[in-house]
Amino acid sequence: MSTIVAISTAPGIGGIGIIRMSGENTYAILQKIFKPKQEIDFNHIEGYRIKYGYIMEQNKIIDEVLVSFFKAPNSYTTEDLCEINSHGGMYVVQKILEMCLENGAQLAEPGEFTKRAFLNGRMDLSQAEAVIDIIHAKTEKESKASIHQLEGSLSEDIKKIRDLLMSIMIEVEVSIDYPEYDVEEVSHNKAQTVLKKVQEELERLKISFETGKIIKEGINIALIGKPNAGKSSLLNAILREERAIVTEIEGTTRDIIQESVSIKGIPINIIDTAGIRNADNKVEQIGIERSRKSASEADLIIAIFDGSRQLSEEDNEILEIMKDKKCILVLNKIDLQVEDKVKERLQKEFPKDKIIQISAKNKQGMEEIYHEIERLFRLDEIRLENDTIITNVRHKNIITNAIEETKKAIDANEQNLPIDMVGMYIKDIMEELGKITGESVSDEIIKEIFAKFCLGK
Ligand code: GDP
Repeated sequence: MSTIVAISTAPGIGGIGIIRMSGENTYAILQKIFKPKQEIDFNHIEGYRIKYGYIMEQNKIIDEVLVSFFKAPNSYTTEDLCEINSHGGMYVVQKILEMCLENGAQLAEPGEFTKRAFLNGRMDLSQAEAVIDIIHAKTEKESKASIHQLEGSLSEDIKKIRDLLMSIMIEVEVSIDYPEYDVEEVSHNKAQTVLKKVQEELERLKISFETGKIIKEGINIALIGKPNAGKSSLLNAILREERAIVTEIEGTTRDIIQESVSIKGIPINIIDTAGIRNADNKVEQIGIERSRKSASEADLIIAIFDGSRQLSEEDNEILEIMKDKKCILVLNKIDLQVEDKVKERLQKEFPKDKIIQISAKNKQGMEEIYHEIERLFRLDEIRLENDTIITNVRHKNIITNAIEETKKAIDANEQNLPIDMVGMYIKDIMEELGKITGESVSDEIIKEIFAKFCLGK
């Protein structure tokens, strides 16, 4: 394979910049541009070493650098690899990259180092995908789930399922190859037990995506309430900064404000909608329409009611929107005189729900809201250390397909169809699962996956 090079650090000013090079000519190219302080034999490089020296161009020092050496096969790509640590910034890093290119390296495509790690068998596809997820992780839980996957948790689960399937396949093959032995009966029974187990395991993985989606994309929360109920104040209290404009004139939150925060390690996307009311004003009407829409699309509604005022027509509309949705009822402005009737009415409408009393202005009662979010989405039950959690839609779709194939195999088996038919379905399940680990995946898909990577990874 060719020798590739890329800048691995993010563009811009920084303390150090890293240029990474991988492939069989790595050290030969490096020799032309790197003058180590203490002489080294470029033909006999030792791995896991760092050397200090200069990048030189025609006896001119370009930069003072540290070069880390990784010797094949003990490197990220399994090839000879080096990382040049130069000073950060725009010029030097770019200049060193160009020097590597001039001396025969090729510019790496996004994700090409990881793609090589995959193609050279150092990691499977699900592990390579975990790398990109770690890079993009915004919260601790998201990064933990991806690291677990990089360590091979998903690969292991898939392998266990494939081993189960293999155990039936062996018997199926025997009964096909040696029909004179009457093994069909045994195979049908055994196949049924194993297939049921496979289905169970796959269903478990599929369900984990509900948690995975929350970990990765977060929970979308719509804040709804009539004008002046205190939506913007609550959003500010959550964000702990003045992001939304708080004002006493009704209907000022005309557009939708969306913010992301991390609560209990989970990304929370909060949408502060325009106050729900029958506005004559055109702009406001658009805003209200949007807030109805975002409330209907949200995973959770936080409905906020002004505890200092009687409920109104507008509040009724909000109560209507909340029906059949996961929601948290918040009674705001408890620092003022609270109208008992408001609380009674809310409790009557939602007898099973807890009404959380807060003062958004004084940031009082916030913990209770967070606790309720945690309870509703069972965030405290997420066990990232032990369980494989699917966070990738591609994996989830493959598992869904594999479940369908498993059901077909179970049906065929139940109907006592010839065992080779069952065998065909089992092969389909294995083929499907191979798309997660990368054994049976098209070049197109591989290309698509690695195209999402950053340069230099
Ligand atoms: P929104 O229209 O629902 O976004 O409401 P705002 O957050 O803009 O608040 C409307 C008014 O109510 C502002 O004057 C806030 O200062 C006030 N307000 C909000 N929350 C509280 C609270 O907990 N206590 C009191 N006393 N006033 C509040």
